[in-house]
Amino acid sequence: MTSPSAETPRAHHASRHNVLFACGAVGATLLASIALGHDGRRIAQLAVLAMPMVLWLAWPLRSARMQRVRTVLVWLWAMAFAFDGAVRAYLLDTYQAAPDGAMVLGAAANTNARESTEYLQMHWRSAVIWSGALVIAGVLVGMFARRGAVRDAAVSSSSVRARPAFWTRSLVLALLLIACVAYASKPWRRLHPAIFWTHWSQSVQTQRAAWADQQQVRDRAMAQARAIAPVITQAGPSTVVLVITDSINRDNMALYGYGRPTTPRLLAHKAQAGEQMAVLKNAWSVDASTLPALRNMFHFGLPESENPPHLLALARAAGYKVWWISNHDDLAIEQQHARFADVVDMLNRTPGRASASLDGEILDCVQEAFADTGTDRKLIVVHLMGAHPHYSLRFPENANPFDDNIDAVENGLVKDGRSAWVRRFRQEYDAALLYHDFVVSELLQQTRSAGKPEEYRAWMYLSDHGQEVGHGSDRAGHSPATASGYRIPAVVWRNREPLPNGAAQQQPFRADWTAWTLMDLLKIRWDGQKPERNVLGDAYRWEAPKIPVAVESFSR
Ligand SMILES: [Zn+2]
Repeated sequence: MTSPSAETPRAHHASRHNVLFACGAVGATLLASIALGHDGRRIAQLAVLAMPMVLWLAWPLRSARMQRVRTVLVWLWAMAFAFDGAVRAYLLDTYQAAPDGAMVLGAAANTNARESTEYLQMHWRSAVIWSGALVIAGVLVGMFARRGAVRDAAVSSSSVRARPAFWTRSLVLALLLIACVAYASKPWRRLHPAIFWTHWSQSVQTQRAAWADQQQVRDRAMAQARAIAPVITQAGPSTVVLVITDSINRDNMALYGYGRPTTPRLLAHKAQAGEQMAVLKNAWSVDASTLPALRNMFHFGLPESENPPHLLALARAAGYKVWWISNHDDLAIEQQHARFADVVDMLNRTPGRASASLDGEILDCVQEAFADTGTDRKLIVVHLMGAHPHYSLRFPENANPFDDNIDAVENGLVKDGRSAWVRRFRQEYDAALLYHDFVVSELLQQTRSAGKPEEYRAWMYLSDHGQEVGHGSDRAGHSPATASGYRIPAVVWRNREPLPNGAAQQQPFRADWTAWTLMDLLKIRWDGQKPERNVLGDAYRWEAPKIPVAVESFSR
């Protein structure tokens, strides 16, 4: 048994080595955590911000209580940096995004508890990996933070106590000075996890508050639309249906040549409808997530500085009655788009219905809109969940015919080295597409059989963005960094006037120009018309969009 008073200078020397080792271990863990989520100069900046607490470990403390307090504070301090590193690494790995980027901020502000649960069900693997890194950092720091320098009463009171060497003291002093400079500089200080994440959560709150009531913004847009005075150029009743779905990659639709029979009903419609139905073969979204995609879709793909009108405001100003029937429970979309409609049905909000989130729930509601006799001009917008993650929630139980046969698709995925869980996600995704085929075909069937046969009707279907499910990489989910995130279906049906056929259907189409095409389907004339952006017109001229991935060719 050893007591502190019995400590020899030699033992004291050894304990100083221990302290240095503890500082080194805590410092190295911190540095590794920082390097996970940052790069370049940022690593050095954060290391300097993290340093003071590591140096504190080298400061000899006498009271056992202070030593415990120090251990806890150093641990919390280090974990703040580790948490910061792990979250950033996860976002970088999954979305190539920073936490304060518009995409992540928007998603965080717009997420409710149900969505978060679904999200975790889908992404728990990466969450486990990065949480694992966090646990390891916690254990390492916990082990070494308690080994900080201790001042022992007997030794310190005697002249035997060795003072740290001159160069050690100078080094510590210099390091502390650099840390002072770091904390004095605002842009530098703001990188500190505690400050950064406090600021981050304030930004999320601000975003939410801004969305909470956009009535004034909508009123202004309506006034703008009335001033534009759009007119309907076609006599007689008209019904136009816009079906916006979520996370559908056209590569998984048999309608687009996929190897699994995921769209038997749409194919039947295609065979039956002939030239009344155009499948736009090379359709692209220019955004990989819902909010920016819808903003572009309804604002004519124009940047905000050009003060573009809202499609629904123009339609109403021209005399359409507008319905918004949605299976999404989404505050931002409701405020930015849905509330422009005369009738808003957000079905996903109805509590107590077990299957409330299956898209088929909206069909009755849409039928009611068709049956409405109060108006001759109808624009019915239907917003579906499509195959939004988690895929297994997007089709009824026991409705996955792809889960146990080894087909060409499965073999192809194996050949490409896709992991078992990505292959299973693909099966679920395809099952979601099969159910989606049923819902979309029903919507088309309702449109085709609505009203009197000679009445004008049009129907357009497209996805907000694509989805990566083992197409180009071994992962599943929204994908801003691969082309799969942008490959969407787009289909148009109308019972009058020919649609693009043959070669014209091969022309690429971009979803942010959807409103230009819809104005044609709605038969609305206005002074902002750009015929070169209407994919259905002869004057259509394709321009490649700027998206954050390299696309070899937009024509395939
Ligand atoms: Zn989406």
